[in-house]
Amino acid sequence: MSPPLSETARTESPELSVVVPVFNESENLAPLVARLVPILERCVSSWELVFIDDGSSDDTLPVLRELHGRDARFRAVSFSRNFGKEIAIAAGLDHARGRAVVIMDADLQHPPEIIETFVERWREGYKNVFGTRVDRTQDSPLRRLLTRRFYQIFENFGEMGLPEGAGDYRLLDRQAVEALKSMGERARFSKGLFAWIGFRSIGVPFQVAERHSGVSKFSYRKLTRFALDGLMSFSTLPLKVWTYVGTIISMLALVMAVYFVIETAVWGADTPGFASLIVSVTFFAGVQLMSLGILGEYIGRIFAEVKRRPLYLVAERLEDDATVEPADPTRPTPRVRA
Ligand code: UDP
Ligand code: MG
Repeated sequence: MSPPLSETARTESPELSVVVPVFNESENLAPLVARLVPILERCVSSWELVFIDDGSSDDTLPVLRELHGRDARFRAVSFSRNFGKEIAIAAGLDHARGRAVVIMDADLQHPPEIIETFVERWREGYKNVFGTRVDRTQDSPLRRLLTRRFYQIFENFGEMGLPEGAGDYRLLDRQAVEALKSMGERARFSKGLFAWIGFRSIGVPFQVAERHSGVSKFSYRKLTRFALDGLMSFSTLPLKVWTYVGTIISMLALVMAVYFVIETAVWGADTPGFASLIVSVTFFAGVQLMSLGILGEYIGRIFAEVKRRPLYLVAERLEDDATVEPADPTRPTPRVRA
């Protein structure tokens, strides 16, 4: 029985879709396509490439138009602005029609040759085949250290562990893709979502290559925000911690109360009224923090859900079966998730 196809799968579905989020990668597209296409021709019966232009300001979009004009199997969706790689991946999964979907970076750091192994594993029955980085020497020592710490924190406080070294380079079976598409959460942390959906999974080690051209689009600021997003969408600890802090402070106030009672009984009061004042102030500060923590727990969840904004806005589609809309930022096409 074939898995359910999405509403985007109007024409017949290719065997494999390759989703590539691109943000100012005009220099890398031609080399990527040149290396990728022969491999796809070799290992699958039919394929398509789905580029998600994440609000690039360089020549990326014209290059994509040129590619699409040459061969309709190069499809592209262009965002109205930069929404970030995580959202671009979500859009890629929305638009991919393949029976399996590979997600890869545009900068050739993910060696396309590994796709052959991905496809082999997929044919063996694995639905979630992820590339694992053998070493991270391509990253700076500071980034490596912070990455390591992040995985440790996630392991301890998150809903589930993350496979070490597993990134976004992976193959997903249609079933896994549909599972991911059913998750309409706003704070997208793909690594966490990929681990959360489960399915028969296997890692394929690969060596991260040097970036073909340009520099990494991830500053430490972007990475920090990304790490916080990840932790907050898979752990409620940041909200819950205040409940514990409040409890501890309240208990401390009780201990102080007992101490002051004994002190007054034994030595007498030297500042009348001081003890009851300080005790009640501390106690109620604790209680307030505790109740704020509990409120925060609920409000945090409600806020994220209630906004119900579309995940991304499309300015232009390069697809055979879609009308091409002009890139007009004042009239973007909202795509509301069902
Ligand atoms: N990318 C994107 N939107 C962004 C940042 C990056 O679509 O806001 C894409 C980028 O074009 C590349 C991939 O995500 O294809 C990985 O980005 P990069 O190589 O800069 O990250 P790194 O390899 O340093 O993790
Ligand atoms: Mg890169």
